[in-house]
Amino acid sequence: MTQPLLRFAPSPNGFLHLGHALSALATWQAAAQLDGTALLRIEDIDTARCKPEFTQAIFEDLDWLGLSWPEPVLVQSERFDIYAAAANRLRDMDLLYPCFCSRAEIAENAIGTDPDGAPLYPGTCRHLSNADRIERLERGDPVQFRLDTERALERTGMLTFSVIGPTILDRPQIRYARPGRWGDVVLQRKDTPTSYHLSIVVDDADQGITHVTRGRDLEAATDIHVLLQMLLGLPTPYYHFHRLLLGDDGEKLAKSKGSQSLRDLRAQGWTPEDVRRAVGFLSNSRSD
Ligand code: GLU
Repeated sequence: MTQPLLRFAPSPNGFLHLGHALSALATWQAAAQLDGTALLRIEDIDTARCKPEFTQAIFEDLDWLGLSWPEPVLVQSERFDIYAAAANRLRDMDLLYPCFCSRAEIAENAIGTDPDGAPLYPGTCRHLSNADRIERLERGDPVQFRLDTERALERTGMLTFSVIGPTILDRPQIRYARPGRWGDVVLQRKDTPTSYHLSIVVDDADQGITHVTRGRDLEAATDIHVLLQMLLGLPTPYYHFHRLLLGDDGEKLAKSKGSQSLRDLRAQGWTPEDVRRAVGFLSNSRSD
């Protein structure tokens, strides 16, 4: 039997908050229940927003929470060549095309919204001629590369994956992936030769991740990951979607909204037990 391998994969673009603590604790708890191992991965492809001091703080905060992980830790910014090679494989299959649209153009011509509520790309640049593409590339216009999702689905046909829940010990349920609802997603961004979707699919496979534990906010994005795994000939792990911690406004906690960081809470005298209790991993009751 393969050893269960899980991962916690934060982005060092701010300090960890209680939502991350919940996600980390859910991952380590699931690993323990499966008799497996939880890895830590640093998802820092956004080199403009990610900072080494935030990476350092991730190590310190998780250590303070009492979590440990095997070394070396995979750091995505060290693997751009590997992600570019995966993109090239899709390019060789004629599934990637250059897109020169600005955010404003996409918002203006959107054909609805994607599952995250963002404007759905109308496919404008899918219809550019080769000559136009070459001319604009040679001119140095800012470019991102998108997956031709419809063409990709013609290759793969119907896609399914296994979801485990509500606990990691439950029986897997088969689910259909519906990547079409995301339209032609960006796989190589303007600022970096990869994207969230492409890097995590490559890394989950390279690291041999058997169970992906992630928040319900990333449940719909999994459809894209299953499609990419199929196209690249990579295994599809089991997926487990954990609950999210909501703020007073009923929205998920986010660094961008200035949710209190674990280090703020620590400075205010919180203990690791207080954090565990606040995110539902330690009961108040004496009998537990
Ligand atoms: N890096 C992602 C985040 O911070 C999570 C990784 C994943 O589960 O795909 O939201």
